[in-house]
Amino acid sequence: MRYLIISDIHSNLEALEAVVADAAGAYDEVVCCGDVVGYGADPEAAADWVRRHARITVRGNHDKAVAGAADLEWFNEAAQAATLWTRENLSRTNLDWLAALPQGPLEVDGFEIAHGSPLDEDEYIITPAHARRLFGQAGWLTFIGHTHIQGGFLLHRNGVRAIEPLWEMETRREFELSADYAHLINPGSVGQPRDHDSRAAYAIYDADKKRVEFRRVPYDIDAAARKILEAGLPEPLAYRLRLGR
Ligand code: ZN
Repeated sequence: MRYLIISDIHSNLEALEAVVADAAGAYDEVVCCGDVVGYGADPEAAADWVRRHARITVRGNHDKAVAGAADLEWFNEAAQAATLWTRENLSRTNLDWLAALPQGPLEVDGFEIAHGSPLDEDEYIITPAHARRLFGQAGWLTFIGHTHIQGGFLLHRNGVRAIEPLWEMETRREFELSADYAHLINPGSVGQPRDHDSRAAYAIYDADKKRVEFRRVPYDIDAAARKILEAGLPEPLAYRLRLGR
């Protein structure tokens, strides 16, 4: 079984369509680590696609906020404005779907998915020190999102290793999973990458070959950014797409 692992789509339809086209033929099922909406200008189309195609989706902090299940006090100004705008631009069907998304971690065929960390859906696992605390707590393989940084960490009783990010000229890189480690794998963000690479990020997990392939794909950033500005969403949400941070 091969899984398309996506996370942090953030209402970016151009990025999502580029990922789906790039991944065509490479997967059997779709799994989503949350933050389907928030920030971008196409929440309805993004939610429609994930609702129809993902076998399982955990809720992200933005999904929760849009659905009214989290208070906005801890969001910055742009995220707050985008949350309120997103609420107004979603159908009842998709608002109800977001509100019903389960909290991670969730078990999927022998691996797990979570938004932030396996212990706390809102926690950012950014550094090896963050990851180290999960040794003995996380299972053999957990896919996480939330940081918008592709890669992840290998946990071992002797220490933690960060997985090297892709170079600018690379579009794909295979990574072999090992029985010796627990793996925290972040597919990166489809719709708002923050790892200084503006290309849409995702991963393919091949459960039979015990292999994860990290992938990047360019998309029409200008179109996604223009829609954000035309919608009256905060300008930095458009500019950061070009910067990839
Ligand atoms: Zn996010």
